[in-house]
Amino acid sequence: MSEEKIIIFDTTLRDGEQAPGASLSITEKLEIAQQLAKLGVDVIEAGFPVSSPAQFEATRLVAEQVTGPVITGLARTNQEDIEAAGKAVAPAKRKRIHTFIATSPIHMKHKLKKTRTEVLKMAVEAVKYAKTFTDDVEFSPEDACRSELPFLIEVLTACIEAGATTLNIPDTVGYILPYEYGKLIENLKSNVPGIDKCIISTHCHNDLGMAVANSLAGVRNGARQVECAVNGMGERAGNAALEEIVMAIHTRPNFLILDDYTIRLTTNINTKEIHRTSQLVSQLTGFVIQPNKAVVGANAFAHEAGVHVDGVLKARATYEIMTPETIGLSGSTFVLGRHSGRHGFTDRCKQLGFKLTDTELEQAYQRFLEIADKKKEVFDEDLAAIINDEIHVVAEITYQLEHLRVVIDTDNTPTASVKIKTKDETTQAAACGDGPVDAAYEAIKDATGRSPKLEDYSIRAITSGKEALGEATVKISEKGRTYIGRGISTDIIEASARAYIDAINRMVSTQTKGEQPELKAEL
Ligand SMILES: [Zn+2]
Repeated sequence: MSEEKIIIFDTTLRDGEQAPGASLSITEKLEIAQQLAKLGVDVIEAGFPVSSPAQFEATRLVAEQVTGPVITGLARTNQEDIEAAGKAVAPAKRKRIHTFIATSPIHMKHKLKKTRTEVLKMAVEAVKYAKTFTDDVEFSPEDACRSELPFLIEVLTACIEAGATTLNIPDTVGYILPYEYGKLIENLKSNVPGIDKCIISTHCHNDLGMAVANSLAGVRNGARQVECAVNGMGERAGNAALEEIVMAIHTRPNFLILDDYTIRLTTNINTKEIHRTSQLVSQLTGFVIQPNKAVVGANAFAHEAGVHVDGVLKARATYEIMTPETIGLSGSTFVLGRHSGRHGFTDRCKQLGFKLTDTELEQAYQRFLEIADKKKEVFDEDLAAIINDEIHVVAEITYQLEHLRVVIDTDNTPTASVKIKTKDETTQAAACGDGPVDAAYEAIKDATGRSPKLEDYSIRAITSGKEALGEATVKISEKGRTYIGRGISTDIIEASARAYIDAINRMVSTQTKGEQPELKAEL
């Protein structure tokens, strides 16, 4: 039995972040990148550096601070893009430039307004120029799946001669079916001269729900790199879900290679980090995971807690093809309470892998005490939420919730009063609303003098039980831009108010910096 490794190329920070409303701050991107390194991904696509100063800086910081994975930046085929990507990834120990240009007739004609000869020349020059920054160059013919095969072969051949080391075959519009995609990869593998010295990569979109199936069809036919994103994030219906790709390979390692059951596929992923990574990405992007989502959805493992009877434990194997432990779900084991003290709290944070400075630790500990007062048992999931809530905040906090009072009366409209602290003063306001959350939001609007549009609101329980910690996520918008805020509390109204203020703080911070909307790369 021989083993073959599948390279996991994560594009959560680039393609994933392009999902509408998912914009992440630089600190949040860094946080996700550190977790991706812990998860064991081989390549991190950290951004599209030319698109904005923030994208450039995020990519550069990931390259500088995240060790382990290859760090790559995306670039169109022009010099300016490649130079920006080259400079942004320069600090990384292992760096890659990923350059792309569309090769399908529809994209060349309507978007690029270029002939085949021009596109071919641009692709080759881009690869050559990228080679002056790093040896590791990836080329993508955008919309490959709707390109004409002879031209695709011609472009790929020329890019290999120019020095490309990875050839990515994107299904940019999520159009292809697994059988066709497998056939395409097989065709390229047998007909592109020199391709045996390169890595063939997949990049599939989920418009028809085929992203994972298509990627695996690619693997079955010779692709050895899969581009994917945590929780399947990405443009429109999203990208191939990293956790599904990894667990499919993990669960069926021998059955993914065509006509050869002696080859076992592996990845470098530490599957035990899947759950935490998925939660972190969901919390920071504000993209709630549907309960029936494969692998990471709340219902994915039906028997996760409270199963102690021997017979039931035996029965688990009859219904479960993977165990919750494999993806790092420990079940809801009680870990901490107020009595655990500072020592117990610090120890558990370390065991869970959180690297906090002394100040951050103290800040998180104070919040933990507040929550432990109301909620007797604090679970690992709660702890992660507390840390995320306390530490992953906007660098500049303009408004702080000092006091909240909400009165609900079945015969009258709910009323709320708030005290909001800023650097210089404390403002009070009171309002009524359709419901308690609405009343609280009206009072916050009044106290801050800001009135963004509320686009989306959701609440979830982090753990089970009546004292569960609730996490609220809100999306607000102003002047065409969306901002996400989160808040946690044992009280859902308070969590909702905290989330709303968090979103307003993010909005104010962006507006003060005068950040422009970013250019998107549709790959
Ligand atoms: Zn894409």
